[in-house]
Amino acid sequence: MERTFLAVKPDGVQRHLVGEIIRRYETKGFKLVGLKLIHPTRELAENHYAVHKERPFFAGLVDFITSGPVVAMVWEGDGVVASARKIIGATNPLTAEPGTIRGDFGANIGRNIIHGSDAIETAQTEIALWFNPEELVSWTPSLTSWVYE
Ligand code: UDP
Ligand code: MG
Repeated sequence: MERTFLAVKPDGVQRHLVGEIIRRYETKGFKLVGLKLIHPTRELAENHYAVHKERPFFAGLVDFITSGPVVAMVWEGDGVVASARKIIGATNPLTAEPGTIRGDFGANIGRNIIHGSDAIETAQTEIALWFNPEELVSWTPSLTSWVYE
């Protein structure tokens, strides 16, 4: 089953958006299989955003992500990678559609509340970076037959 990595960034945690964000994925019908509060090290943040290391915003981004705790999560479901990104909205909250997390709660590209993996392969890399295998839980939600045909 497809999995994605999501993280409520330090601004989302400080602004008390953790519950609201988890609620959106829970009520959508995705399955939570990993969850932890973690204050990322610089090494973890730099690894996570390695693809952006030549970009002008990289240093500020790493400072921001390491500035406080983040809520790291793994969610599972058919098509969860792309769907989770749609629920997040565009990178810049000012252009993100209303109804998306960034569209509803953000006002600045450098404070856009949540991270979500952009592809299945990226998700696998990010899950392995943030979680040990034993931290991921296999379980059977009792509502499955009401969410999936
Ligand atoms: N970012 C930024 N300024 C920019 C572009 C990106 O601060 O001009 C930050 C922002 O937090 C974004 C992250 O860098 O979420 C990663 O950028 P990416 O283009 O991968 O956006 P995402 O995949 O998060 O939508
Ligand atoms: Mg990205």
